[in-house]
Amino acid sequence: MAQCVFCAIVAGESPAAVVAETDEVIAFLDARPMSEGHTLVVPKRHAARLADLPADDGTRMFALGHRLARAARDGGLRADAVNLVVNDGRAAFQTVDHVHLHVIPRFAGDRRAVLGRFLRRKPRTSDGAAVLLRDALPD
Ligand SMILES: [Zn+2]
Repeated sequence: MAQCVFCAIVAGESPAAVVAETDEVIAFLDARPMSEGHTLVVPKRHAARLADLPADDGTRMFALGHRLARAARDGGLRADAVNLVVNDGRAAFQTVDHVHLHVIPRFAGDRRAVLGRFLRRKPRTSDGAAVLLRDALPD
């Protein structure tokens, strides 16, 4: 069993609502989402911090995040906006030591709800959002 929770998902040892996957990166719903469709894009090769991440993996991570942002806006989720966020290091709120890009769909008027979920992150299930994002993912 992998020590890192994201490596365990990459290895298929832990469940996740997978939205997209290539040979190098995987995207799945955040288990404690800040909004409907909150997705994490994770390079499959383990790198704890951005400084450890090969540039190619960073490029691939962002490229998939870019596509997911389009899917969040243009697809059934109908997001009004999207936050793309990398928390690099503990002081920046990185809680899993495996580099990941947050793709956080945003909706008009959701500021208070998102801030509340940021302060009190709880597990929530929203597998329907994975389907909506998958169906709208551009090439
Ligand atoms: Zn890992």
